[in-house]
Amino acid sequence: MEDKNTFFESLLLDVDNVKNCPWCGNKPEFIVESCGSSREGLYWDLELRCNCCRNHGPNSHFSIAGRIARDSCVFILEGKDKLQQAVNAWNRRADDE
Ligand SMILES: [Zn+2]
Repeated sequence: MEDKNTFFESLLLDVDNVKNCPWCGNKPEFIVESCGSSREGLYWDLELRCNCCRNHGPNSHFSIAGRIARDSCVFILEGKDKLQQAVNAWNRRADDE
């Protein structure tokens, strides 16, 4: 099933497609700024940024929502498009440098 990934596995998959920081050359990371639960399930507020020089691109803040299944995998119900947008925006800017 395509939408069934463990939370960190799916994020790390996307990190592999992320270009290195145009300033320091390190890989950016997904930083969990906050997380919690809502009526629908769980949510995470994330930022895609370079943890070395704190550099980040436009649309670097985004939220995803999901639910944890019995096998402790996460179904991402909402926000996969935003995650991809953050990666795209970062990559586009890395190209400009
Ligand atoms: Zn950097």
